[in-house]
Amino acid sequence: DDAKPTNFLRGIIERDLLEGRYRGRTFGGSPGDGAHHAKGVADPARVRLRFPPEPNGYLHVGHAKSICLNFGLARDYGGVCHMRFDDTNPEKEEQEYVDAILDAVRWLGWSWDAHGTSHLYYASNYFDFMYRAAEYLIETGHAYVDEQTPEQMRANRGDFATPGTDSPYRNRPREESLARFREMRDGLHADGAMVLRAKIDMASPNINLRDPAIYRIKHATHHNTGDRWCIYPMYAYAHPIEDALENITHSICTLEFEDQRPFYDWVLERIVPILRAPQYEAGRKLVEAIEAQGLEAGKEFALHCHNLAHKLFGSEPEQRMLSMFRRWEHDREAVLKDLPAFFGLLRQHPEQFTPLLAHALEERRIEPYNLPHQYEFARLNLTYVITSKRKLKQLVDEGVVDGWDDPRMPTIVGLRRRGYTPEAIQLFCERIGVSKSDSWIDYGTLDIALRDDLEGKAARAMAVLDPVKLRLTNWAEVFGSEAHREPCAAPAHPHRPELGQRSFSLGPELWIEREDFAEVPPKGFFRLYPGNKVRLKYGYVIECTGCEKNAVGEVTAVLATVLPDTKSGTPGADAIKVKGVITWVAAHEALAAEVRLYDRLFTDPHPDAGGKDFKASLNPHSKRVIQAFIEPSLAQVEPDEKFQFERHGYFCTDRIDHTAGQPVFNRITGLKDSWAR
Ligand code: ATP
Ligand code: MG
Ligand code: MG
Repeated sequence: DDAKPTNFLRGIIERDLLEGRYRGRTFGGSPGDGAHHAKGVADPARVRLRFPPEPNGYLHVGHAKSICLNFGLARDYGGVCHMRFDDTNPEKEEQEYVDAILDAVRWLGWSWDAHGTSHLYYASNYFDFMYRAAEYLIETGHAYVDEQTPEQMRANRGDFATPGTDSPYRNRPREESLARFREMRDGLHADGAMVLRAKIDMASPNINLRDPAIYRIKHATHHNTGDRWCIYPMYAYAHPIEDALENITHSICTLEFEDQRPFYDWVLERIVPILRAPQYEAGRKLVEAIEAQGLEAGKEFALHCHNLAHKLFGSEPEQRMLSMFRRWEHDREAVLKDLPAFFGLLRQHPEQFTPLLAHALEERRIEPYNLPHQYEFARLNLTYVITSKRKLKQLVDEGVVDGWDDPRMPTIVGLRRRGYTPEAIQLFCERIGVSKSDSWIDYGTLDIALRDDLEGKAARAMAVLDPVKLRLTNWAEVFGSEAHREPCAAPAHPHRPELGQRSFSLGPELWIEREDFAEVPPKGFFRLYPGNKVRLKYGYVIECTGCEKNAVGEVTAVLATVLPDTKSGTPGADAIKVKGVITWVAAHEALAAEVRLYDRLFTDPHPDAGGKDFKASLNPHSKRVIQAFIEPSLAQVEPDEKFQFERHGYFCTDRIDHTAGQPVFNRITGLKDSWAR
């Protein structure tokens, strides 16, 4: 029943594959096989996608949707998905976030270390090319340096009802813009003094096309490029270039970017001549060959180039390439580690590889790539949840939660710590599908996926979360001694006998749930009240005889007698019919455990919709820590193990705080949906 539902993106990809739109030309084949290569050998058509987070925070469940979508489409259509950091904005980006993001994507089940499936890239490795493309735009009359103040620029942009006003700098000579742009690069101007803008149309009804900024001055240290740059490209300009340099076929993003698509295309169309310069094509083809077919194919191609060019590898990058191919034989790990930096170099400085690659490209008549195309899908909106890194960061910074991995957080690390499994999150993402219109997904959908995943996997156990003593007053009479212990057993999993049995024992004193006793039973109450019989799960039938109370009238112990010959699994056990079965843990062997009961973080199903103050609807009861008793079979469990506590729901030992000596469990979710209240 979990057959992959089709969606509009699958439709587009299938059409494109059918039309051979992304068919490449291979470098493969034996060297010297000239005729073969002159025509070009059709590659299997290949979709190329990417997941491009900005390393400015931890990933959340919304990103999981995008991750599963992009990596999943690549897997399903035999393509590739690049793990790419969109790290073009130095101020908010940090190595901590880079590491956390890689960890989260890996944990969700995707990888980029393996050959041919995915590779890791950093947009900041393309800064040289982006700069070069910007100069090219200036040279061809498509960009200018604007020296208006930010206030003037804002005022002159107009709004939805009013067209913008041209900047007085708009028609300055190209040489002047170029000189200014180089001064910007060389650090001669302060932040905000001027910007490079695309020259499009100040009257466009699409405000994104009113001469958008493409480069700005920012004297800031970048986590990857350090202080090498003091100008940085704007996202809307950088993104299409990143996609094109990586030969992305389908650039999938969320609906907010729909109005940016014309600019995405505008940029690429303008820079086609340099994107398609033979050496760039060849560089990208080489990278693709290595990505798709492993280093062997790249090596073959490089050696072919080498032969063609009738010369040794001369330039520094060429030598580096050669040494890489040599090391490949005996030190694959190290070579694989070097690849991203090498690819970055190749992508943005292919001229250093000429005439080698250009020559080879011509020889093989490799066709240029089609330009990438942007498609938009509806972002994930989950009820009771905030999916904005900025707002989540606020909760962390202000101490509202205990960190990015607080089990109440919708971050991947938070979900993981809470006990959600990668399989459950993947299942959830498959089930919600993708569409072109925004909607809200009920949080319960995620929990249903979790239960569907854990139902068959999680071992069962008994735990008493709100304990009150139960005393079996006729124990010695029935079993001969107060010290007698009656062994009991239960399956680790009701439908998986191969997981074996858990064993525990019954004694005269037990812990039971406080709510399982009522001195005066409400209507329809089948559990303990004076005169009523219930079964102790996996044990005996008992009959309640009363209770003990303290001075303020609280029940301190429930009293009952045990009925001989009624033990579960023994002949005649069913002779006495009861309507209630209760869970328990024997006092003599119960383990004390800290249990953290989590509830939704917000009381409003749409905490930040329509610009609402999301902190106004924080749920004051989102975390409750209790002391519980758990059955002895849980004495040695490792951190991050999942269980179903019978009747209570799914629980997980805390990844960070749990030890066998001091058990800590998190409630992942209950057994039934409680979200759609
Ligand atoms: P945030 O606003 O939370 O910072 P973002 O979109 O700015 O999110 P990015 O790091 O740029 O964060 O996101 C990486 C990718 O994840 C983008 O392609 C983006 O479209 C996608 N993404 C982000 N949030 C969601 C969401 N709620 N649902 C689906 N995809 C999302
Ligand atoms: Mg973003
Ligand atoms: Mg954002």
